[in-house]
Amino acid sequence: MATTTKYIFVTGGVTSSLGKGIIAASLAKLLQAQGYRTTIQKLDPYINVDPGTLNPYEHGECYVTDDGAETDLDLGHYERFLNVPTSQANNVTTGRIYQSVIEKERRGEFLGKTVQVIPHITDEIKHRIQILGKSGDYDIVITEIGGTVGDIESLPYVESVRQLKWELGQDNALVIHLTLVPYLSAAGELKTKPTQHSVKTLMESGVQADILVCRTEHELPQDLRDKLARFCNVTKDSVIQSIDASTIYDVPNLMLTEGLDKIVLKKLALKSETPDLTRWNAFVERHKNPKTEVTIGLIGKYVELQDSYKSILEAFIHAGAENEVKVNIESIHSEYLNGDNIKLKLSHLDGVLVAPGFGERGIEGKIDAVRYVRENNIPFLGICLGMQMAVIEFSRNVLGIEDANSTEMSTSTTNPVIDLMEEQKTVIDKGGTMRLGSWACNLSENSIVRSVYNTDKIEERHRHRYEFNSDFKEQIEEKGMLATGLNPDTKLVEIVEIPSHPWFVGVQYHPEYKSTVANPHPLFVAFVKAALVHKKTKKGVSMAQNK
Ligand code: GLN
Repeated sequence: MATTTKYIFVTGGVTSSLGKGIIAASLAKLLQAQGYRTTIQKLDPYINVDPGTLNPYEHGECYVTDDGAETDLDLGHYERFLNVPTSQANNVTTGRIYQSVIEKERRGEFLGKTVQVIPHITDEIKHRIQILGKSGDYDIVITEIGGTVGDIESLPYVESVRQLKWELGQDNALVIHLTLVPYLSAAGELKTKPTQHSVKTLMESGVQADILVCRTEHELPQDLRDKLARFCNVTKDSVIQSIDASTIYDVPNLMLTEGLDKIVLKKLALKSETPDLTRWNAFVERHKNPKTEVTIGLIGKYVELQDSYKSILEAFIHAGAENEVKVNIESIHSEYLNGDNIKLKLSHLDGVLVAPGFGERGIEGKIDAVRYVRENNIPFLGICLGMQMAVIEFSRNVLGIEDANSTEMSTSTTNPVIDLMEEQKTVIDKGGTMRLGSWACNLSENSIVRSVYNTDKIEERHRHRYEFNSDFKEQIEEKGMLATGLNPDTKLVEIVEIPSHPWFVGVQYHPEYKSTVANPHPLFVAFVKAALVHKKTKKGVSMAQNK
């Protein structure tokens, strides 16, 4: 434990997408594994108040915390690596900063003063950076500054780092600058100049990087490290190589080998010891040495962009490792699925996940997919919109209600089996107004979920406006789709299952947000297991047919 909270700032240079979030999470893991209570925070320089109103094409998945914050997907990495929940305080945007400064101005808190970027915006940024530190819950707070140094919109953040580094004093704060050392194949050389320029840009704002983490495709030889140290005013042991890894889960060990944790702790005047990564390494070992494989179809409308379903993909990695199975994900675009190609696209799969989403695009393909897996006994997991599509499909094709729909897609349907929640009916604003965050759910006896979770009450995270319409519950249950998870207070249906199917579960919440390396989500673990059983059964059937 540290006596005062120490702050680590992670900035990025040269280009975006270098993986600041993974480096921050990996460092945090190494510090946590030495007994330091560590958290990570992301500062995003865009003007949206939160990423909840952003299309996944813009910014990837929107991650949701227990306290209902709609956040950057990097918070998902932080939770998956650290197994500690994050909250609203872990993600701050320029929009939120300005919003609170402007609200203060309207309340008269700056009465008589001109409100300016410096000091008012930077004070608000510094305040937000220190909320977690001042909570007393953490020894070390890592703050990742989104964007790239030199961007106009990053300037107030870099300026806040400059001020804070000064105010917190030596040993209490440091800056890690993540840069790229590109390999020029024509010259056959790694090039340090972009890093030199990026460090210089940071210095123009008065911030000296203490440690350089250099992303590279090839090993950084010692002479290049020496050169970087010399030109960038850092000690030689502060030049850390971050070479491309086959999985993000290797990065903590790569950083350990490079001594990133050691140099960080030395500069913060904290004791370092060998981190205890036993559990982590056991996971990596299982992840890298699967005994068999399954193929799961991920049906969504943003499948061309990996980041759109980040938490789902990671939850499959955790569940795969737990089952010692490699989970191959086949991304299937729901917009191009229809009755004619459905068999071709789905029949070989061991399981199908229908993804969350908003709006009409691609929903008929999702409904066709649910029908196919329901009728062909393929394990199914529907998440949020995926669960809603399962209810619509069942109502249309089993109950014979032809126009069964969600009022999100058809306001005029006479059979709204999925309908806007009561409290949503008066909501006009789009930002931060969904049913968000953690809600309790009671699980029915003898249900799949009850045995999967091994408890009768769970809490899961939500992000939606529409919900199973309980007016149709009796009819739907009579035909064999059961509501096996209900909110204890409102009786909203949170889970549906079809007991006559080998494994068919739809959940209104997002289990993927709570899957971590240390705690793979039980629903994903059970789904992968069901896919494995399906694969074996399929094989058994085809062998019998060949006899
Ligand atoms: N669009 C649906 C709703 O608002 C589902 C949301 C989701 O999948 N996250 O209820």
